[in-house]
Amino acid sequence: GENTYQVFDATMHKQALHRLTMESDLRQALERQEFIIYYQPIVDIVNDRLIGLEALVRWQHATRGFVSPVEFVPIAEETGLIVPIDQWVLQSACEQLASWKKQFSKDVPLKMSVNLSAQDLRKTDLVETIDQVLAQTGLSGDCLTLEITESMLVEDINKTIDLLNKLKARKIQISIDDFGTGYSSLNYLHRLPADFLKIDRSFVGQMQPDNRNYQVVSTIIALSNQLGLATVAEGIETQQQQQWLQQLGCELGQGYLFSKPLAANEIETRFLQG
Ligand code: C2E
Ligand code: MG
Ligand code: MG
Repeated sequence: GENTYQVFDATMHKQALHRLTMESDLRQALERQEFIIYYQPIVDIVNDRLIGLEALVRWQHATRGFVSPVEFVPIAEETGLIVPIDQWVLQSACEQLASWKKQFSKDVPLKMSVNLSAQDLRKTDLVETIDQVLAQTGLSGDCLTLEITESMLVEDINKTIDLLNKLKARKIQISIDDFGTGYSSLNYLHRLPADFLKIDRSFVGQMQPDNRNYQVVSTIIALSNQLGLATVAEGIETQQQQQWLQQLGCELGQGYLFSKPLAANEIETRFLQG
């Protein structure tokens, strides 16, 4: 109609069907306990020392096998299912950290980073939920870092600042994830009570001295320092990248060079025992 036409072919039909079954499978995944958490080390890139772990959700589907969060998190966000999923991740990751702290007391400064979605920030009981998790696990707020992306912050900036201040009062830290890929306004960045800024791995992966990505990384680190935030570089895969980042004044990093995300038992054997 209206001088336009639409094409609907077999591929699109297949895609729509895939999405639909994925959505209904996702609804059952929590009950069936198909989610697990992998943990990726966050290190001090100057001395390679472990300072924290990022909890990354994994879906082990009964017939589909492993489904990447890149595939299912967006669907979970659209359907609102991300809220109970993230709550489960928060609870389980905090329980895991509390148990590690008891078992390996020498690694006390270890922190846990948990990813949040825009939907989580909209829930009015988010702070209450977090308080409950901290109380149940006996963890103090300074053990927990919440990762949020730039785009999530701008929705209602005053409300966001209000929320972040409540978290700050509990010593919970805030990390701005995937920095450089979303909308951000330098206008409000300095008003955000954040602690860490994570440079997106798309910049880190393609940096070469004097290319554009290198300049972008350099500028982000300078900005981060100016704002008094600690900088975390995502996706460090080579020693060369680690060295450049260090020279540019970045203190923290994450990436395959140090470790891929690992199951809890692998974290124990590789990083906590002995
Ligand atoms: P993110 O929070 O930015 O997490 C970093 C992603 O980069 C992870 O992908 C990690 O495996 C990957 N990565 C880390 N180091 C390297 C590297 O050196 N090279 C390469 N190529 N990749 C690296 P993953 O686990 O597939 O997660 C993708 C995204 O899904 C996350 O990006 C996050 O936005 C989202 N996500 C994961 N778990 C959760 C969750 O529990 N809740 C929510 N809301 N989102 C989650
Ligand atoms: Mg993250
Ligand atoms: Mg990221």
